[in-house]
Amino acid sequence: MKFSKNKKMADVLKELNASSNVEYVEPNYVYQPTAVTDPLYNELWGLKNTGQEILGQVGKKGIDISAEAAWANTKGSSSLVIGVIDTGIEINHPELKDRIWVNTEEIPNDGIDNDKNGYIDDVNGWNFYDKNNKLFIRGEEDFHGTHVAGTIAAKANKIGVTGIAPNVKIMPLKFIGPYGGYESDAIAAIEYAKVKGVKILNNSWGGGENSQALKDAIKNSGTLFIAAAGNSAENSDTSPMYPAAYDLPNILSVASINNTGNLSYFSNYGAKSVDVAAPGEGILSTTPSVEGDYSKAYEYLDGTSMATPHVTGVAALVKAHIHHILPFKSRMLS
Ligand code: CA
Ligand code: CA
Repeated sequence: MKFSKNKKMADVLKELNASSNVEYVEPNYVYQPTAVTDPLYNELWGLKNTGQEILGQVGKKGIDISAEAAWANTKGSSSLVIGVIDTGIEINHPELKDRIWVNTEEIPNDGIDNDKNGYIDDVNGWNFYDKNNKLFIRGEEDFHGTHVAGTIAAKANKIGVTGIAPNVKIMPLKFIGPYGGYESDAIAAIEYAKVKGVKILNNSWGGGENSQALKDAIKNSGTLFIAAAGNSAENSDTSPMYPAAYDLPNILSVASINNTGNLSYFSNYGAKSVDVAAPGEGILSTTPSVEGDYSKAYEYLDGTSMATPHVTGVAALVKAHIHHILPFKSRMLS
């Protein structure tokens, strides 16, 4: 059967469905593939290891976080905010710009601390290092945080990579500058996130000495504090790196494995002080632009810093999933 293009689809359906000679009529709906469309997805062995070669090393099938099985349930939700305590983040990266937390209680650029949290115009987070709201200073300085953020939440689209929880929001909390970051600023960042109700913090940093102040801040943060075990190839039980090695129930300390499932040569380890190992070698993620060109703004990095956001991404998916099923569960109980 053929109809005039000028005829409305709804009218055609109504006409035909009204006929006793017709059982039913439906439009020929268009469906989209559920496959991941990000062109660099095959490089993300930590999400799906098919045994593909990454930077010259052939992987072992199945050594991954089984991201696709989780995605069948959830990709996270935009009401779930993940704090990234790190360097700054290139928040204008096309993979990240829609994924950055917005402080709706703050009016941009009016010079007033509208939400009275002690920070003026903190619209998307805070730069504790420079004491201002600039979350991206320059490429080299904020390379690390940009890479970490991408692993957690890079947008699922038709460019580049995908994050593990691509529907969550990232709260950039910069406390590391060109020469590292002060513990006092890290503590301020933890407090900031706590006040804003953040429940998951990614901490791909470490060093320094055993500090009661930092330990207390983490202990009282009410967060799952996911921290890099460190890259000194040492036993953290005897040579602890903080904050990962603090003995606190809410710290998840993360070692690194490679794409064959072995501990990375650089990774710290420790039966008592390390909780989990995650993909941290040959990890492709977002980086700051090269003179405004975002087409090449992706690089491979190694480190427990890269393993940590894999765990954070999984934690975000778990939290989103629990949140999703909870109303159903409580109905069942009542
Ligand atoms: Ca404020
Ligand atoms: Ca993408």
